Amino acid sequence: MTKPSIAEASCADDYDPNSMPVDKARAFIHRFLEPLTAQLRVPIRDALGRVLASDVVSPVDVPSHRNSAMDGWAMRGADLRPDADTTLDEIGASFAGRPYAAPVGTGQCVRIMTGGVVPEGADTVVMQERAKARGTRVTFAAGARTGQNVRHAGEDLKRGAVALAKGRIVRPAELGLLASLGVGEVAVFRPLRVAFFSTGDELKSVGTALGEGEIYDSNRYTIHGMLRRLGCDVLDMGVVRDDPALLEAAFREAAANADVVITSGGVSVGEADFVKGLLGKLGEVVFWKIAMKPGRPLAYGRLQGAHFFGLPGNPVSVMVTFYQFVREALLRLMGADPVMPFPTFPATCTARLKKAPGRTEFQRGVLSRGPDGGWTVAPTGDQGSGILKSMSEANCFIILGDSVGNVEPGTVVEVQYLEGLV
Ligand code: AMP
Ligand code: MG
Repeated sequence: MTKPSIAEASCADDYDPNSMPVDKARAFIHRFLEPLTAQLRVPIRDALGRVLASDVVSPVDVPSHRNSAMDGWAMRGADLRPDADTTLDEIGASFAGRPYAAPVGTGQCVRIMTGGVVPEGADTVVMQERAKARGTRVTFAAGARTGQNVRHAGEDLKRGAVALAKGRIVRPAELGLLASLGVGEVAVFRPLRVAFFSTGDELKSVGTALGEGEIYDSNRYTIHGMLRRLGCDVLDMGVVRDDPALLEAAFREAAANADVVITSGGVSVGEADFVKGLLGKLGEVVFWKIAMKPGRPLAYGRLQGAHFFGLPGNPVSVMVTFYQFVREALLRLMGADPVMPFPTFPATCTARLKKAPGRTEFQRGVLSRGPDGGWTVAPTGDQGSGILKSMSEANCFIILGDSVGNVEPGTVVEVQYLEGLV
C-alpha cells in the first residue's frame, strides 16, 4: 500500500486545520510513521529501555528439567494407595542443584526439595506436611494423586518457542527472563536520534543574564528530559532567533543529522506564516490548530527524510503536546509494538473546574486516595499554559473531553497518571 503524501492527506474531506480533534490528529500522524530498521546486538543489560529488533527464541526448555514444586518426597504414584496410608523406603535425596542420580524403584521414595530434579522412575511428589518419617521409613497420607507437584521440562516455555517478540520494550522483567534462558546478547533497534531547538528572539540560555523582556529557554530542558526518558539520542541545537535565514539553516542541519526534528515556538498565528513558507520549501508540513488546551498550534510533517514536530512555545503546551502526540509517535518510530495509549481511569474531582465545551482540555491535577478508598483528583492551582509549576506539582492530567463543560465538585473525570509517562 502506498502512503498518501502529507499534503494530500491534509485535503481529506473532514480535515479542518483550524479545529483538529486530538484523536484525529493522533491517527493522522500514525499513518506516516515507519519504524527504524537499523539494529545492533548488545549485552542484555544494555538493552534496558531499548526495543527488541527480532524475536528472542528460547534456546532451552523452561524449566530445563522435571522438578519438584514442593518440599517432600518423590515416588511412583502407582505405589500410593488412594484410600489408606502408604509407607515407603527413603533411598536418598534430591536437592536443588544436587540431583539423585539413580532410579526410584517400587516401594521406594527420595527426599526432595523445591526445584530438585525428580529422579527417573518417580512421577509424583507428596509434600512433607502430608508425610511422617521414622528413620528411613516414610508414611504418606491417603489421597495423593499420581503426577502431583511435578513441574515438567518445557512447561513454562518450550525450546524453540518465541520467548519475547520483536517490538518488546526491554524492562527489568525482560532482562530477568533473558538471563533465565541463558541469553546474554540481543538485537535491539538503534536509538532514535532526535534534534531539537527553541525559536524566539526573547529566549536566553541558562547561564547568561536576562535583558529586558527576555526569558530563559525552559523548553529545551523539558524536551531534553522527555526524550532522554524515552531512551532517545538527543541533539540539542540551542536557541534559534526568529530569523528566516538562521531558521532555514537550523532546519536543514537538524533534518540532516536526526530521524526526528522537534522545535518549540514559532508556530502560533503570525509567526507561523513565515515558518510555514520555510517548511513548505524544505519538506511537507501541515499546520493544525488542535482542538485542545493547552497546546493549540502544532505542526507535523516530513523534513527531508526526518519526521518533524513543531510544538507550541508555551512551556506547558510543549509538555502536553509531547505527551499526547509525540511520545507515542517516537515509540512507534523506535520500533515498539504494540504502542499502547497511556491509560486513563476515572477519579472523583474535588474542586470546580472551568471548562468550555468544544475542545479537549488537559488540566494538571494531583491524584490521591479519598477517605472512602477511591481515587480523587484536584487541580494544581492556576492552569495557565505558561505556568510550569502546575506541571511540576501535578502527578496526573485531568482530561476533559470535547463535549464536557464546567465540572462541579463530586463529578467523576478521566485522569492520566503521569508516573511512568514522564
Ligand atoms: P510562540 O509560540 O513562539 O509565540 O511562544 C508562545 C509563548 O511561549 C511566548 O510567551 C514565548 O515567550 C514562550 N516561549 C516560547 N519558547 C519558549 C521557550 N523555549 N522557553 C520558555 N518559554 C518559551
Ligand atoms: Mg516565538
